[in-house]
Amino acid sequence: MATTLFDLSGKVAIITGGNGGIGLGMARGLAKAGAAIAVVGRNEAKSAAAVAELAQGGARAISVATDVTDKAAVATMAERVVRELGRIDILVNNAGINIRKPPHALDIAEWDSVIQTNLTSAFLCSQAVYPAMKAASGGKIINIGSMMSIFGASFTPAYAASKGGIVQFTRSCACAWAADNIQVNAVLPGWIDTDLTKRARQEIGGLHERVLARTPAARWGGIDDFAGIAVFLASPASDFLTGTAIPVDGGYSIMG
Ligand code: NDP
Repeated sequence: MATTLFDLSGKVAIITGGNGGIGLGMARGLAKAGAAIAVVGRNEAKSAAAVAELAQGGARAISVATDVTDKAAVATMAERVVRELGRIDILVNNAGINIRKPPHALDIAEWDSVIQTNLTSAFLCSQAVYPAMKAASGGKIINIGSMMSIFGASFTPAYAASKGGIVQFTRSCACAWAADNIQVNAVLPGWIDTDLTKRARQEIGGLHERVLARTPAARWGGIDDFAGIAVFLASPASDFLTGTAIPVDGGYSIMG
């Protein structure tokens, strides 16, 4: 079991959307710190590649194909992780999508799919792992927000609502489960180079340059920028930290 502040030996982590992007960056960090990893996503080929990479680095890793908007599938996923990896200590609610349209053009099906994927999934997964965390006398939940947890934009009504909601959901769970020694925190990524933002860069003229100009670190984030925050929030180093929303954004959110 854990011997140092950042040691995750013997711990088991579930990462939704852990097969690519920010989720994979976090999975790499948690695996290096000693955790076994359950990669949760829909694309089985992508998940298999992520599992192979993590295993090659020496980690125990499995893929659990799951649509995180499906309550029954999420329950089955949590059961399978306990059955195959023995316990659940860490949950990263990272799966997310965006549909970029102004509010007057977004239809209800699009609204629902963004809210269900980005927000309802965090509720379903957190609720599904709670009994295992309680049984383990504690746990760590890391929810992925966004700069849209803080700011607004004309083309992100559902996405911003989901990401604002994730911060409030984080605070509620932090209050509810502190007595169970479960810490719940949110991470708010700035602009990160992933599949999600590749299309935005192609479709929104000048976006790439505007992000660079506004980011004090003067670069887009990479997925490996999320390894450290994942380990910190999953490890004993953060045991007195709960309910926070931490920007990992190269300073984007503090630039005046
Ligand atoms: P990616 O598109 O690379 O990753 C999104 C992941 O979510 C994929 O692995 C996908 O896996 C998974 N996913 C989507 N829908 C579902 C579903 N219904 N069930 C299970 N898994 C699902 O994007 P990012 O890495 O950029 O995004 C990760 C998170 O970070 C998201 O919550 C996003 O909102 C947030 N974020 C990203 C920022 C950025 O600049 N990139 C900025 C701020 C926040 P699969 O296709 O296999 O289902």
